[in-house]
Amino acid sequence: MNLELSEEQEAVRRLAEDFVAREVTPHAVAWDRAEEVDRAIVKKLGSVGFLGLTLPEEYGGSGGDHLAYCLVTEELGRGDSSVRGIVSVSLGLVAKTVAAWGGEEQKREWLPRLASGEALGCFGLTEPGTGSDAGNLATRAVRDGDDYLVSGTKMFITNGTWAEVVLLFARTGDTPGHKGVSAFLVPTDSPGLTRRAIHGKLGLRGQATAELVLENVRVPASAMLGPEGKGFAVAMSALAKGRMSVAAGCVGIAQAALDAAVRYAGEREQFGKPIASYQLVQELISDIAVDVDAARLLTWRVADLIDRGQDFATAASKAKLYASEAAVRAANNALQVFGGYGYIDEYPVGKLLRDARVMTLYEGTSQIQKLIIGRALTGVSAF
Ligand code: FAD
Repeated sequence: MNLELSEEQEAVRRLAEDFVAREVTPHAVAWDRAEEVDRAIVKKLGSVGFLGLTLPEEYGGSGGDHLAYCLVTEELGRGDSSVRGIVSVSLGLVAKTVAAWGGEEQKREWLPRLASGEALGCFGLTEPGTGSDAGNLATRAVRDGDDYLVSGTKMFITNGTWAEVVLLFARTGDTPGHKGVSAFLVPTDSPGLTRRAIHGKLGLRGQATAELVLENVRVPASAMLGPEGKGFAVAMSALAKGRMSVAAGCVGIAQAALDAAVRYAGEREQFGKPIASYQLVQELISDIAVDVDAARLLTWRVADLIDRGQDFATAASKAKLYASEAAVRAANNALQVFGGYGYIDEYPVGKLLRDARVMTLYEGTSQIQKLIIGRALTGVSAF
């Protein structure tokens, strides 16, 4: 694997760094306090091509490889994980899945709008009763002529109150377990679909997280994504690539923690010297630095495997597991360097820790990643 960035990749990284410095970082604390990112950011993300990365140009995408996608995601995560999540879900979980599984009409209908930011996507898998055991979901889609009538509740849906379309997973037919699940692209203004914003999150407070309730929502059969009964495979393929995106966002958090800790340690004086001169403070900083590098290398490896058409699912679980735990550790270590100032939100590191915490929970908890890795190594499913 070549660890040098190409000129093109470096240009994309710089574009993302400039964008984040101008459009994201200056507002991140205010958005966190207000519990709402300014929605204007979506169009801005679309206009610089960040919502269309890796998507084919014929469908409005901006092309690029998965390493470039990681670089942009890292910079966004460095600035504000709430904004990073908007892209990871709308592009990473929805648009890329439409590109991979969609028919020509579905691609033409949704990809140009999702890539430009004219429409936003959300991913409706989790339910109040099923999180880790997602294949056991209860939402039902019952055939009615040329349509399906869909009823059920989806929980913790990122972009939920903002999105124009939900990639929704529902049970079709009577087959129990994950084999009876199908995927649908459902416009969120469909009659019978209501949304309730979820407030009071520990982190990612700027993000529009919602509960979606569907009561006999009429969905044409042509909105099914992928074959009937293959919805769980659609979801798992989306999440495998999504985990790379979460991992890249975590690298961004850890890098931001490192930048902040080094800067503060040089400025803050105690016992007549900068705290950077104390070995125990340097230990905190060097632990963060090793976590940044290790998480970044694991994440880039996933991008490299995808771009070379190799199997990447286990590598993605390893990267997501390591990078999410590393982001929590790094933000916590940075908070220690800041002392009491780390505990108030005028300084950046408390938010990094709050935002990092959920990364070990969503798109498969750390325990679930370990079961995926363990199954790949032993051949035995321990779920
Ligand atoms: P549970 O599955 O109930 O797990 C509880 C605990 O039990 C965890 O520690 C877990 O690791 C452990 N556990 C469960 N099963 C096992 C096992 N077999 N072995 C060992 N331990 C086990 N979902 C979406 O569909 N779309 C979204 O956009 C989305 N965004 C989210 C945003 C936020 C902010 C949050 C908090 C969640 C989001 N989720 C989303 C849901 C998220 O993916 C789930 O919360 C996650 O999968 C865990 O499910 P759960 O919360 O039901 O926990």
